[in-house]
Amino acid sequence: MGANKLFGTNGIRGLTNKELTPEMAVKIGSAIGTFFKKKNLLLGHDARTSGPMFAKAVTASLVATGCNVYFAGMAPTPALQYAIKNHCIDGGVIITASHNPPEYNGIKVIWKDGIEISHEQEIEIEKIYFEGKQVFAEWNKLGATHELPTVNDEYVEAIKKHVDVSEIARKKIHVVVDTANSVGSLAAPRLLRELNCKVTTINANIDGTFPGRMPEPRPENLTELARIVRAVDADLGVAFDGDADRAIFVDEKGEIHWGDKTFALIEKEFLIRNPNEKIVTPVSSSTLVKDVADAYSGEIVWTKVGSVTVSQTMKAIKAKLGGEENGGVFYGPHQAVRDGSMTTALILEIMAKAGKTLSQLIAEQPQYFIEKGKIECPEDKKDKVLQKLLGQVQGLNISTIDGVKIWFEDKSSILIRPSGTEPIYRLYAEAKSPEKARKLVEEYSLKLEKILKTL
Ligand code: MG
Repeated sequence: MGANKLFGTNGIRGLTNKELTPEMAVKIGSAIGTFFKKKNLLLGHDARTSGPMFAKAVTASLVATGCNVYFAGMAPTPALQYAIKNHCIDGGVIITASHNPPEYNGIKVIWKDGIEISHEQEIEIEKIYFEGKQVFAEWNKLGATHELPTVNDEYVEAIKKHVDVSEIARKKIHVVVDTANSVGSLAAPRLLRELNCKVTTINANIDGTFPGRMPEPRPENLTELARIVRAVDADLGVAFDGDADRAIFVDEKGEIHWGDKTFALIEKEFLIRNPNEKIVTPVSSSTLVKDVADAYSGEIVWTKVGSVTVSQTMKAIKAKLGGEENGGVFYGPHQAVRDGSMTTALILEIMAKAGKTLSQLIAEQPQYFIEKGKIECPEDKKDKVLQKLLGQVQGLNISTIDGVKIWFEDKSSILIRPSGTEPIYRLYAEAKSPEKARKLVEEYSLKLEKILKTL
C-alpha cells in the first residue's frame, strides 16, 4: 500500500494494526460500499485472529453506506466466491491474506460473478478512498445485516456435481489433508469423506495463529505432510494455503509436486473431453502446460503473473480452464477462480479413472528441471535493464507480457521478471536437464549484471 494505492496484485494486504488498522478498514469499507451503491454484499473471512475484528469494521461501514451485508462467517475464499454467484448477490468482501503469515490480513473485493473486481474497478475504489468521496446513507436508509451460515455446505455440494462421485468412491482413496489450521478445514475433509476417501487430517483445528505451519504451501512448509503420507501409507497428500484457493499435492511416495505438474494432469483430462478449448496460464508456467495443449488440441493463452489476471482473461475470452504453477487451478464449469477443493476433487477423479497413482501419472508427463536465481537491481533501473535486455534477445522466441520470457528450440526457457515488491530481478529457467537449467540462469544473470554496469 503506497501513496494513492490500496490494492496490490491480490487485493489489499498489510500487517494487522500496523499497515492495516480497523480505522482504515472502516474507511476502505465505506469506499467499497460507495462503489457498489446500496447493493447486497456477502462478507466472510479466513481463520486469522484479526478476521472477526476486520469483518465487523468493514460490515459497519458497508451498512453505513446503505449496503445490505450477508455475513457468511469463516469460509474458504472459493466457497465465498461461489456463494455470491449461487445466491445472486451483487458482490462481496473477503477478509483474508491468503498465503501470508498470520500477522497479516487483507481485503478482497468480489464482483457479482464471483471473480475479483478488475484493476479499473480497484482504481475507482481507491479514488473514493483517497479523495474522501464516501457517500453515507440517511439514518433511516442504513443497510441491514443478515446471516448466511450455509455457504460451506453449498460449496461442497457444488463441487461434487463436477466429478464422477461413484467412480472416486469405488477406489476408497486414502488422502492426508493439511489445511494449515485455516478455513480449508471447513470444506475439504468433509468433501473427501463424501467422496468415500479415507481421510487423515493434519493441522485441521482452526487456529488463527497458524501453529502447524506457515500458510503458503511451499515445499519447505510441507515436509510434515510428506512424512505423514509415507508413515500412514496414504495414496495422496494435499495441502492448502490460508484461504484454501490453492492446492499442492504429495504423491504416495511422499514426493511434493509443484502446481504446474498437477495442473497439466487436469489440463490433459479437460482437453480430452473438450478439444480445441483455450487454456489460460501465466508466463511463469512450465512448458509442460504448452506440451499438453499441443498434444491434446488445446490453445495456450499466456498472461501476466497473477490470479486476478487469469480469472479476468478467462472471463474476457470465455475460456473454461486456467492454472498457475503455485497450485491455483481455475475450473470454469464450477467457477473461473482458484479453488483448492475443486482441484482436489479433479485430481482424485483422474487417479480413480486411470487406476494409477499420482507418481505414475506424473512420471508419464514430459519432465522438466527448474532452476531459480535473482539479481539485485534498483527500482529506478528496472525498466532500463529490461529495455537493454530486449535489445539483446531480438530474433528469439520471446514474450514480453510480464518481464521477458524466452523459449528456446531445445524446449528450455527462461523468465526474467522484475519483483513487484523487492529491488530485484527474478530468473526462472526450465530445461530438459538440470545442468542446462543452471547454465541458463548463470548466462542470463551475467547478461543482467553486465547491463547494470553500463547504467
Ligand atoms: Mg490463497
